[in-house]
Amino acid sequence: MKRQRSKGKHVRKKIKKLRKGSLFGTLVFVAAAAAVCTTAVAMSQFARYDIMTIADTSLSELNCNFIRSDSLPEVTNTKVTETTSKSVSVKWDSIPDAEGYNIYFKASGDEIFTKKKSVKNGNSVSCKVDGLQQAEDYSLYVTAYNGNSESRKYTTIYNVCTKPEKAEITSIRSEQDGCIRLKWKTNSRASGYQIQYKYTDSDDYSENDSISIFGSDKGETEVYNLTPAREYDVRIKTLTDKNGESIGSEKSVEILKDMPGLNYGIDVDKPMVALTFDDGPGGEPSDRILDVLEKYNAKATFFMVGYNATCYPDNVKRKVDLGMELGNHTWDHTHYGEDVTINDIKKSSHKIMEVSGQKVGAFRSPGGMTTDTILKECEYEHMSSYLWTIDTEDWKIRDKKHIYDSVMKNVKDGDIILMHEIYGTTADAVEKIVPALQKKGFQLVTCRDLVIAKTGKPPEEGVEYRNVG
Ligand SMILES: [Zn+2]
Repeated sequence: MKRQRSKGKHVRKKIKKLRKGSLFGTLVFVAAAAAVCTTAVAMSQFARYDIMTIADTSLSELNCNFIRSDSLPEVTNTKVTETTSKSVSVKWDSIPDAEGYNIYFKASGDEIFTKKKSVKNGNSVSCKVDGLQQAEDYSLYVTAYNGNSESRKYTTIYNVCTKPEKAEITSIRSEQDGCIRLKWKTNSRASGYQIQYKYTDSDDYSENDSISIFGSDKGETEVYNLTPAREYDVRIKTLTDKNGESIGSEKSVEILKDMPGLNYGIDVDKPMVALTFDDGPGGEPSDRILDVLEKYNAKATFFMVGYNATCYPDNVKRKVDLGMELGNHTWDHTHYGEDVTINDIKKSSHKIMEVSGQKVGAFRSPGGMTTDTILKECEYEHMSSYLWTIDTEDWKIRDKKHIYDSVMKNVKDGDIILMHEIYGTTADAVEKIVPALQKKGFQLVTCRDLVIAKTGKPPEEGVEYRNVG
């Protein structure tokens, strides 16, 4: 009640002021209560008008009060420069005489434009308008004002949309545990995303088979509990506050066969080889080999000399971080074949475990000379033993081209490749070999993953593997 009274006062005041003015005109409309009235009134340029609507006989509402003038030119070249879900940046050409600018907005469902913002004419002829409704279509225009004059309106209306763009799936990857990992391009205008999935051979997507992610701009997620060895279609929907969903891209993916213990992302139906490196760690070449493997997201197995591992603990820890397989190559590489002692094996495993915090599950005897005693001790220490199918002779022939050729000219699916991580020439060769193998379609895996992928079960303890292809 209080508010209404004060509004009434304000209206009466306006009327008084108007009556004092030299220009005064009245238009009277009598209309039924619910009807919508519009009219056009001829007015002179550069003159000031107050307009009010009077309902019934009492003064009820002052609708607008504006001054029309053609003394200021129309604002031109209005542009929406940036759009987020709830704001836009507007830019226009400067008018030298203008004191400032008004920005008017109208949402798609609105009848009239309303002033959203006023800015003084300073250095910038742009502003950000906040508080918009997400996924709404807006029209806007900008006027200039100077004193009591405002430039012409309604001449050019610009459209702006705060709807998010359709989301684009950028990568999709299947993994053994019935899981897919997907990434998409995020969009600042989206409030969330919905990932939907179905069997490729089934008809349509259902709301049950979907996951929604809100308030995240990470652009990646996992979908679990899918059926191994089945093909799925996956699509992404952009979600907005205002029921304006839009369907983005769709991709198909085949869920990898389920093989317990196999590392993520290995396709058992595609060729793979195991790179193995003996005798390390050994300083710079060892680190460089890890750099290459990291760069290409490749895995390998390192049969380390226990003593060396204690000298380069950071290198050993990095191997763990990168998902490399740790192997035992005896404590100090001084004994071969029958001369290898139980302590040579035990001490190496335990020291590597101490340094890395990880159990050692792989073994390779110095010179590949394995005996029954050694295998028995491997079983006791829960390790499998591995030989090789390609010998690069990198320890003997320190030539990167020879090493490269010995791999690339002979490689086939299932190979275990023997190298040594302590030579610069080997690191040089590895820089070329890793991308070349991947280019040929080989996955670079650990010995353990090679056995699982090729035999369908984890390697057995106390057993020696050579040819698993
Ligand atoms: Zn060796």
